[in-house]
Amino acid sequence: MTVPAELVSIGSELLSGRTVNTHAQTLGAALLPLGLRLERDTTIPDGTAVIAETVGDALARVPLVFVSGGLGPTADDVTCEALASLLGRDILEDPGALESMRRKYAQRGRAMNTVSRRQARVLRGAAAVENPRGMAPGQRIELEGERILFVLPGPSREFAAMLDQSILPFLSERYAGKSPRPVRIIHTEGLGESEIVERLERENLPPPEIQTAFYAGNGRVEILLSCGPGDESLLEATACRFRTLLS
Ligand code: ATP
Ligand code: MG
Repeated sequence: MTVPAELVSIGSELLSGRTVNTHAQTLGAALLPLGLRLERDTTIPDGTAVIAETVGDALARVPLVFVSGGLGPTADDVTCEALASLLGRDILEDPGALESMRRKYAQRGRAMNTVSRRQARVLRGAAAVENPRGMAPGQRIELEGERILFVLPGPSREFAAMLDQSILPFLSERYAGKSPRPVRIIHTEGLGESEIVERLERENLPPPEIQTAFYAGNGRVEILLSCGPGDESLLEATACRFRTLLS
């Protein structure tokens, strides 16, 4: 059984067409090899009520929820307040995060003012997640029922760096050996999707233990094959047959 996860992408600019939401792509691709499956990405505006409602719904469905955006110091950044009201927790200044921000400001030859200092605030009981590319720390909030809520900043280079540096290592340890999900990717060129499916069906492929996903574009089709624990050699054999049939 793979562990399901959801992302809540917060940002009015994601809905008005000003910014393309890239976090679902980054997160989904990063979780898959750990045996974690991104099941839903909900994009919502910066609003306290809608954030609390959407994150609450996600936490009722899955044990792993990622929230991105709205952690900055400006008036439209209300993610922390919304989560505080949803979870019934105070917001506190995190001494470690404050110290790390002070260092970063000093390195850039700038002083930290009271507005920027707001970014060092996290929910009570949250572990601050270091942000190697920006100021606002992320947060890891462990909830009852072995659920985890990650809160991450909006800018994609910060989001991706925190995933790589802190969150993926944490998750691979937390879910170690639970549900490894091996993946093979086959790249094809010059064959349409229906032609590919016809060739595979003729050979009764893939076997039921192997899941496939097709991504087509620009005359190429990428086929992602994956399996559950114990079916690794069947996955390898199936990938081999795909290559022979489609080359
Ligand atoms: P900041 O401290 O920079 O304000 P923040 O955590 O408050 O960070 P937002 O204000 O929500 O984040 O977004 C900052 C910028 O990050 C946005 O202008 C947008 O360009 C980018 N961004 C936010 N969410 C996404 C996303 N899902 N995909 C890609 N880019 C995003
Ligand atoms: Mg902001």
